[in-house]
Amino acid sequence: MRAGTLLFPTLREAPAEAQIASHSLMLRAALIRMLASGLYTYMPLGTRSLQKITNIIREEMNNAGGQEFIFPILLPKELLTPSGRWEIFRQELFRLKDRHGSDHALGATHEEAFTELVGREVRSYRQLPINLYQIHTKFRDEIRPRFGVMRSREFIMKDAYSFHADDASLDATYNTMSETYRKIFKRVGLDVVSVKADSGAMGGSGSEEFMVLCDVGEEEIISCTDCDYRANAEKAECKSEYRSEEPAQSVAKAATPNVSTIKALEEFFKVEASKFIKTLIYQREDKSHAAVLIRGDLDVNETKLANYFGGETPVLADDKAVREITGARTGFAGPVGMKKKIPIIADNSIKTVFNGITGANEDDAHLTNVNLTRDFTPDAFVDLRLVKAGDNCIQCGGKLKSNRGLELGHVFKLGKKYTEAFKVTVLDEANKDIVPTMGCYGIGVNRTLAAVIEQHHDEKGIVFPISVAPFEVSIALLDTDGAIREAAERIYNELRAAGADVLLDDRNERPGVKFNDADLIGIPIRITVGKRGIAAGTVELKLRREKDKADVPVADIVARTLELRKKLFQELS
Ligand code: ATP
Ligand code: MG
Repeated sequence: MRAGTLLFPTLREAPAEAQIASHSLMLRAALIRMLASGLYTYMPLGTRSLQKITNIIREEMNNAGGQEFIFPILLPKELLTPSGRWEIFRQELFRLKDRHGSDHALGATHEEAFTELVGREVRSYRQLPINLYQIHTKFRDEIRPRFGVMRSREFIMKDAYSFHADDASLDATYNTMSETYRKIFKRVGLDVVSVKADSGAMGGSGSEEFMVLCDVGEEEIISCTDCDYRANAEKAECKSEYRSEEPAQSVAKAATPNVSTIKALEEFFKVEASKFIKTLIYQREDKSHAAVLIRGDLDVNETKLANYFGGETPVLADDKAVREITGARTGFAGPVGMKKKIPIIADNSIKTVFNGITGANEDDAHLTNVNLTRDFTPDAFVDLRLVKAGDNCIQCGGKLKSNRGLELGHVFKLGKKYTEAFKVTVLDEANKDIVPTMGCYGIGVNRTLAAVIEQHHDEKGIVFPISVAPFEVSIALLDTDGAIREAAERIYNELRAAGADVLLDDRNERPGVKFNDADLIGIPIRITVGKRGIAAGTVELKLRREKDKADVPVADIVARTLELRKKLFQELS
């Protein structure tokens, strides 16, 4: 491709709307342009990079036995009803009606479409397992589209769905997909970490997220500094710290006028936050209430609580309900002597509080020297603690740390949720109907491109891994004098004939502009063809990621470049 005829209006300044490096660089390097909030146009350079990622994903999926499909994006409501997702996806689904008034949605994910097809087309266990995929556009009406193509409203996903006669077969495909994902991310030059949803300590995971660690990640990842424990903060667990038991003293009431926050209580009683038993009153969906106890220095992980409540999101009770239940204003609740009996759920950390301080269920009063069992007995002990950096690893006791992570892909054992909803059955060996079990596997293609840039850039621009770069080699033609142009054209043609992706910068621009653009776009290999070099029979060869340049005899440059190109690809395999 010749730069003179390529539409790539690079920008010198960082666009104000871009908060993160990859977004800013994708705009500056003319990979993308915004059409409207969460909607992006891929310019020729962006399209090339995106297609390279797509091709890598396709190759690896095919190697892993995947079969590619193209489903409609437009899905009738009836398809999304059996699984309940027409309702569940309430806000996120783009909905529309056709001319006859029938409801449709733009596909946000395709479990239903694939499951329904398998239900119609697969008859026997002998046809299983199968792993079906597509690389296709998805639509989601995200609450907050942001960070450019990282979270947009229209994006490309590789979504795959596997179907199995038994769990062992699902396990095998799930492991193959997990391996395949590692290969894909390696090939695009990404350093990813995988986070198992069930903590490593428990073994046998049903879900694994592939993340890149970066400051702009929307998820928090907790990992151990000593062992391989790693978990999403939503799921992370930790070991309780040991505290030596104290002899129990008798309960006493203390007047605490207007002292209700842990911080104020710490100052008032002159003791550490871990001496307190925090009591939080939650309201459930059926309007019933539950008290949650946790040590004063800790916070409740509401995802864990939601899981305990069977998936419903708990909300804190309002002041009126708190008064009815405890007999006091919010801030003075405690497990001893509540006015109304409600279930008491205690985090395990409560077991490490001796002679604790809690609300007295009376305005402006607290109880001191409260002890578990002697003074109160929770209905259940549950792990509800929000794990933080510095806590002790559940696996080895080492110190935990916290990082931000961005999810690029997800492998998941779905089980029979969709096959049951669609009444899918196949005949087993004994000619009996069985319901197949499923796995699903997604990768965000655009987000992967953004993540590559997030991980590979410097102050001059993108430093693309060769596998994802829009062009592998750029040739900066500095003078248009006959012999110089001829040399550049020859190198260009020979490299292209050997299969390299080359951009010949033949624009009528200053050398600085050409160098800056090649650096901004992140083309891995640069060849400079200029008057001075050609007079000496050489051209200059430079890697984007390195400072050094080398003068290479014109006669050797094609072979040297191809060698270098091969080496850069090998690094990614
Ligand atoms: P998130 O928690 O980031 O919203 P998700 O759980 O909704 O992700 P999945 O439904 O598992 O995502 O989709 C698979 C992949 O699609 C994600 O790992 C991500 O890479 C990509 N993806 C999801 N939503 C978006 C989006 N709005 N824009 C770009 N890529 C997305
Ligand atoms: Mg989402």
